[in-house]
Amino acid sequence: MAMSLLNRKNGEGVRVYFRSEIYADPHKEFPDLMSRVLEGTASEEEKKLFNRIKKERERNLLIKKDNEIFSIKRVKEPLPPMARIFKSIKCDICSEMVMEGKLRKTKKGMVCFSCAGK
Ligand SMILES: [Zn+2]
Repeated sequence: MAMSLLNRKNGEGVRVYFRSEIYADPHKEFPDLMSRVLEGTASEEEKKLFNRIKKERERNLLIKKDNEIFSIKRVKEPLPPMARIFKSIKCDICSEMVMEGKLRKTKKGMVCFSCAGK
């Protein structure tokens, strides 16, 4: 996974790459285990194993040097067009702020997609 942070004036900046391969760990069962824990179908034994592996992964990450986790280099890249910035507007039902254009006009007012579906 990579992301470039660029100066809009000249296109100069840095490219930050997250070396996700550092997560290639010896625990092949981890993804399945995590699914079962999140679904709530894991046994007590599996939950313990999950927590043990999770701690081990966290520890392995914390002892790594920055350049083992990220690759950072100076770049000069063509700039993408400016992103359109939309106003945030409050949903008339749940009061959450929603991006303009993601609201629906209903009898109850301007509401978010979630509330419009109710
Ligand atoms: Zn809403």
